[in-house]
Amino acid sequence: MLRLKQVLTLIFWFPVSALAATGPEVPDYPADLIADNIYVIHGPLELPNPKNQGFMNNPGFVLTSKGVVILDPGSSVQSGEMVLRAVKKISDRPVVAVFNSHIHGDHWLGNQAVRAAYPEAPIYGHPNMIALINAGEGQNWVELMERLTDGKTRGTEVVSPNKTVNHGDEFRIGDHTFRIHYYGKAHTTSDIMVEIVEASVTFLGDNALNERLPRIDDGDIQGNIQACTKILETNSSVYVPGHGPTGDKAVAERFRSYLEILYSSVERYYDEGLSDFEMKPQVAEALKDYADWSGFNEELGKHISLTYLQIEEAEF
Ligand SMILES: [Zn+2]
Repeated sequence: MLRLKQVLTLIFWFPVSALAATGPEVPDYPADLIADNIYVIHGPLELPNPKNQGFMNNPGFVLTSKGVVILDPGSSVQSGEMVLRAVKKISDRPVVAVFNSHIHGDHWLGNQAVRAAYPEAPIYGHPNMIALINAGEGQNWVELMERLTDGKTRGTEVVSPNKTVNHGDEFRIGDHTFRIHYYGKAHTTSDIMVEIVEASVTFLGDNALNERLPRIDDGDIQGNIQACTKILETNSSVYVPGHGPTGDKAVAERFRSYLEILYSSVERYYDEGLSDFEMKPQVAEALKDYADWSGFNEELGKHISLTYLQIEEAEF
C-alpha cells in the first residue's frame, strides 16, 4: 500500500517530470567527406517521424584554418548535438560560424546546440527567414517537429540567425570563401545557397533535392527552376542537396527537370480544361522517372494542385 505522502509525490512529481523531460539523443550518423575538408552527414530520406527523431536533412561542415563552419545543423537541439559530436570526432577546432539555408525547421532548429556550445559564433540567415521567425514561424516548427516525432525533439527552442546575409555576400573565413546566392522566391522566400569557392562545392538548401520530393507549399515553381539554373552557372564540381545524396551538377539538373516537367505537363492539361485531380495520372506518367523518389506518392497530388494554382495566377 502506498502511503499518502508517496501518492502525493507521484501525483506531483510525474507530470512535472514529463513536462521537463527532453527528448533522447539522436544516434551518431557518419560524416561523409565530399571534398577536401568538407563533410556532409546525409540524413534519412523520410519525413520527420518518431524513428528518425526528426533528423532527416543534410548538415554540412567545413574545416577552415580558422575553425569549423556548419551549414544547416539539423532539426532539433538533439540533432545539433549529434552534428557537434561528429565535428569533434574530426576536428578539435571551435565552430566559428553557422549558415542556415531557409526557414524550414528541419534545417536550423539545431542552432540551439551550436549557440549553447559556441555562443560567439555568428549564425547567418536571409532577412526573410529572420522576419518569418519573428512572426512566429520558428515556434510553429518547434511544435510541428514535436508532434511528428511523438516528442522526441522535446527541449528544442527557437534560436534565430543573428546575422543577415544576402545575394553576393562573401565571407572569408580562414582559407575558405563562402559566397551567398539568393534568387528570390524559390523553395521558400528565404533560400540562400552557399558556394565554397576554393573547393568548388555548393550547398543548395532545399532549392534542389535528390531522390526525395520536397514540400513546396511555401515556394514558387518557376522561381525554383530559375534558382537551379542560376546556381548551375557557378559550375561547381560538387552540389549538396538539402536532402538525399550529394553529387555533381546532375543533382541540380535532375531536380530542375522534375519541376519543369511538372509545370509543363500541368500547364498542358490545364489548357485542355482538366482539373488538378483529373490530370494526376497523366502528370504521374510524365514524371515516371521520379516514381521511386521518396515522397512521390504522398507529395505528387499536392505538387499538382500548387502548380495548377500558380498557373492560374500567372494567367491573370
Ligand atoms: Zn525546405
